[in-house]
Amino acid sequence: MARPHVYRTEAIVLRRFDLGEADRILTLATPRYGKLRALAKGVRRPTSRLAGHLEPFVRSALLLAIGRELDLVTQAQTLDAHRRAREDLWWTAHAYCVVEVFDQLTAERQENEPLYDLLAQALQHVEQEADPFVAVRAFEVGALSASGYQPELHRCLGCQETLQPVVNALSPPAGGTLCSRCGARDEASRPLTVNALKVLRLLQRGDYATARRLRLAPPLRREIESATAALIQHVAQRKLQAPGFLAHVRQTEALGASEALLPTSQPGAAHRQPPTAG
Ligand SMILES: [Zn+2]
Repeated sequence: MARPHVYRTEAIVLRRFDLGEADRILTLATPRYGKLRALAKGVRRPTSRLAGHLEPFVRSALLLAIGRELDLVTQAQTLDAHRRAREDLWWTAHAYCVVEVFDQLTAERQENEPLYDLLAQALQHVEQEADPFVAVRAFEVGALSASGYQPELHRCLGCQETLQPVVNALSPPAGGTLCSRCGARDEASRPLTVNALKVLRLLQRGDYATARRLRLAPPLRREIESATAALIQHVAQRKLQAPGFLAHVRQTEALGASEALLPTSQPGAAHRQPPTAG
């Protein structure tokens, strides 16, 4: 029998599900092979050398063997453990939002290295921030551009006029902004305030350093979050699940009852400031 072909890649674990007694099928993001599914045999055994390197959100260096249906993970070494995202529900929920958007905007085996880089960076940003709201929005806006769905944010897609600093409109089916007059005629559009438009433009320019320092009032946060979700859902043609999970975590943490969701003790979790509901 010929030796199977092997290849090395770094990868981020997007999703996984258990197979049989000890195996898992992983959905991986990779820089050069796009999104792919791979089999990790025996990974659920405590003695597995792969265990720990193939948890959700972990960035690992992998060696894969080409299989008949699924490629096989034969070696894995953690590059970026993302412990906070794996161990604390608040960051888990945000990291899950990032990963789901990546998953929804990509097809299998389509190389998109810029999008992969954004994903790796976004997971780092999520972990570094006490409040990862802007980190997630920055990824959503960046990911739309990197996958070819950059929304128009400067002129009206109806009449082509440059937008004025008034309440305009955002229409996901149109692919971006409409002026107030054209927006009134588009049933799929929603009002877009000047401040929300400014933040979206800042994120589209990729200026995360400035964006992360913005103090966003709760109504503005809700408006921006709902706008980016609408744009992504229109492209994906599917409702995102992670924002609902995050909303649940926010609600629970706002009530100061995070322990109710966490059966195991979480050092440090009790001392964290409850996040601002947004
Ligand atoms: Zn117009």
